[in-house]
Amino acid sequence: MRIAGPEARTIAEPMLRLKHALEPARAVFGELIEPELSERIDEVVVTYFQKPHSYTSDDVIEISAHGSPVVLQHVVELALARGARLAEPGEFTMRAFLNGRIDLAQAEAVRDLIDSRTLYQAQIAAQQLGGSLSRSIQPIKQKLIDLIALLEAGIDFADDDVPVLPEATIQEHLAEVRTPLETLAGSFAYGKIVQQGLTLAIVGRPNVGKSSLFNRLVERDRAIVTAAPGTTRDLVTESVAIGGIPLRLVDTAGIRKALDEAESIGIRKSMEALADADMVLVVLDSSQPVVAEDLELLEQAAGRKSIVVQNKADVSHQDGHDWPGVKQTAIRTSALTGEGIPALRAEVLRQIQGDGNISVETGFLTNLRHQRLVEQCLQALSAASSAVGQRVPHEMLLLDLYAALRCLDEITGATTTDDILNLIFGTFCIGK
Ligand code: GDP
Repeated sequence: MRIAGPEARTIAEPMLRLKHALEPARAVFGELIEPELSERIDEVVVTYFQKPHSYTSDDVIEISAHGSPVVLQHVVELALARGARLAEPGEFTMRAFLNGRIDLAQAEAVRDLIDSRTLYQAQIAAQQLGGSLSRSIQPIKQKLIDLIALLEAGIDFADDDVPVLPEATIQEHLAEVRTPLETLAGSFAYGKIVQQGLTLAIVGRPNVGKSSLFNRLVERDRAIVTAAPGTTRDLVTESVAIGGIPLRLVDTAGIRKALDEAESIGIRKSMEALADADMVLVVLDSSQPVVAEDLELLEQAAGRKSIVVQNKADVSHQDGHDWPGVKQTAIRTSALTGEGIPALRAEVLRQIQGDGNISVETGFLTNLRHQRLVEQCLQALSAASSAVGQRVPHEMLLLDLYAALRCLDEITGATTTDDILNLIFGTFCIGK
């Protein structure tokens, strides 16, 4: 249990019998007692964080008990009886933000860190908690401010000898602000996948090895596993993570076996799975010639993110490259021996990441709120850019630039309305 605020100590101390006096940043062993009766309720460890060196920057007392819900409930009640009040969802983090210890993007990263389902997601959230997004926005914001200052100076000293900025120079400055923002906006496609995952359908004729590949792909990284048989359209989905990206694998194979369906039904299921998927693995049996159904699936998959898997490489001598009708990247695998499976995983990741050089270090957008603000900022910059072209007075141009600046400030929370804050911190759980 955590108590924060100027009276944290006064509220906590009467319910504690400690071995030593509280000292800042030291854990002290002791007993939790019923204040009036002096009866022991639990053994606890108490840590005192002295203002401003605490999570919220207030005085903070943290009491660690053994975890019995009744005991914890009772401690909360004792604290409430002594004048504390229950924290709102996310209030501790909100106070850290309001006290200036972290910015808004960092506060949101706390929530993402708690909600992360894979270690990779946690790693990215931790990076943003460390301020990576704010750090990539800072130089962009600085350039924008520099441009605003130049234009303001031109207006303020219009009668003096401050030269009016030439149009081309203004456009150059604008481009310097825009380019890194566009990169950032572009990174959201990947960031969204990292955050929400994607659906990967494994399609192909019966017996090409779809189930076997499915099992190969899920055997590692089984950190998040929820098998959901018989969900939409009788397809088997399983959630896994490849390289920390949550993937819903859709397998069409099990059904045919269970129902002993005709081949055509299997293909139809594949088509359905394919239609709903973000990415498709078209599995071919490389020990067999390509047939009409294979070509049909290949054609269906051609317009989407897809990988052709030439399975059963262990029993075929065919070179994958000269297959008729195969336009996509082809990977030779053997679900039996495991050959080519690492290459397949790598190709899945490569397609997700695209060709952009996205890395945890350079930072990317994972949050819809941030993405919207970056887009709004870019719109304001475009408006500014066309205003320059139309020789609009600089006073008007500055309005667009200030609008762009406001968007950047809203990301880090330098300017944010209470409504937005309530919306953000309302999505936290209590006690964070
Ligand atoms: P599905 O109907 O497409 O799901 O295919 P399965 O995964 O059930 O595999 C059909 C048969 O092919 C099974 O007997 C598998 O053991 C076998 N099989 C799957 N992958 C391979 C492979 O890479 N090499 C060999 N030799 N056999 C495979």
